[in-house]
Amino acid sequence: MNHELQQDEAILDAIDRFLRVEVRPHVKRLEHADEYPSAIVERMKEMGLFGCIIPVEYGGLGLSAATYAAVVARIASVWMSLSGIINSHLIMAAAVLRSGTEEQKRAFLPRFATGELRGGIGLTEPDAGTDLQAIRTRAVRDGEHYVVNGSKTWITNSGQGNCIALLVKTDPAAEPRHRGMSLFIAEKGPGFVVSRKLEKLGYRGIDTCELRFDDYRVPASRLVGGVEGSGLQQVLAGLELGRINVAARGLGVATAALHDAVAYAQQRKTFGKPICEHQAIQLKLGEMATRVEAARLLVQSAARAYDGGERCDMEAGMAKYFATEAAMDNALECMRIHGAYGYSPEFDVERYYRDAPLLLIGEGTNEMQRIIIARQLVQRHPV
Ligand SMILES: Cc1cc2nc3c(=O)[nH]c(=O)nc-3n(C[C@H](O)[C@H](O)[C@H](O)COP(=O)(O)OP(=O)(O)OC[C@H]3O[C@@H](n4cnc5c(N)ncnc54)[C@H](O)[C@@H]3O)c2cc1C
Repeated sequence: MNHELQQDEAILDAIDRFLRVEVRPHVKRLEHADEYPSAIVERMKEMGLFGCIIPVEYGGLGLSAATYAAVVARIASVWMSLSGIINSHLIMAAAVLRSGTEEQKRAFLPRFATGELRGGIGLTEPDAGTDLQAIRTRAVRDGEHYVVNGSKTWITNSGQGNCIALLVKTDPAAEPRHRGMSLFIAEKGPGFVVSRKLEKLGYRGIDTCELRFDDYRVPASRLVGGVEGSGLQQVLAGLELGRINVAARGLGVATAALHDAVAYAQQRKTFGKPICEHQAIQLKLGEMATRVEAARLLVQSAARAYDGGERCDMEAGMAKYFATEAAMDNALECMRIHGAYGYSPEFDVERYYRDAPLLLIGEGTNEMQRIIIARQLVQRHPV
């Protein structure tokens, strides 16, 4: 085994131990109370997880996207919310890594890697989600600063975190609209207001908030890449990795549902035999296991393409679409296999069923993924 593989194995073993000993025993209580897992997050900082994909020269672990996806899938198989704490943080880091100036990389990536600066991505607004070019939050240059006014919603990690990659309009009249969009590294300060924490069906324990910007002043040196007008492309480039890690979350949830279903189907007896011996249950298990395996292969293939520096929006889109639908389908089938117990908060399956739908929406809805796949198909196969 080469050195890199050995290192990856050691990291995955450490994650498994951490999840078994320090996370699993607390998930039910924290999730049901919608309580932020502060102690667990401190351990995640110590383990270097906030720097998973940040290169070693900037203080991170320098993991490949493939290893990072394996880390995310394992975390999500125990508690999906925890993976969200590092995922959107690392999309912010990926935007700086790919599009930031060298000065910005040196100033921010080491602080992102330790978790000293921690947060996510501030894109969505009350009137703009999928259609990001319709955002209205505005930044106006004023000397060595920009003054930001507007609001964002559904911003994960923005309550407990202290920094977000903030997408704004610097030229609202620009045509095409994306030429007027810019991205800032926005640390909390006067005028950066967390207006409220949002209630959610699942993905609980993690903070998703509404934000308001009232004459918030951000230094011009925090404009990613140092130029106005590239914000949307910078965000979209980061979303390729984001989609791979949402796919990995889907894989984690689908795997957990399969695991619980296989175990329960052997314990529960009806008509004198374990339900795993009834053909109707076997058909479900067969489908669930096939979905997990197919999702795993799609996630790996997208992550490898990303690691190889290839354009991979189609591969990431396929992995995101399939693996997250697999999570939803497996959660429902796992619930059916558990009968009434699947409807009880005593069993983890009700959480999978509440967590999985987010994956169909976040990092580009699954409707949009299929459209992206189709567009790429046509582009790659012109007649
Ligand atoms: C728990 C949670 C956490 C989140 N965290 C973050 C975060 O950290 N940062 C952030 O910026 N955002 C975050 N979001 C927001 C998320 O990214 C958006 O919800 C998502 O992009 C969809 O936008 P929307 O909700 O405005 O739906 P809309 O854009 O209003 O879409 C509504 C429906 O129309 C469909 N649709 C829209 N346009 C088209 C089209 N052209 N063709 C076909 N169908 C279309 C969509 O697929 C969807 O089914 C989070 C959301 C949730 C629920």
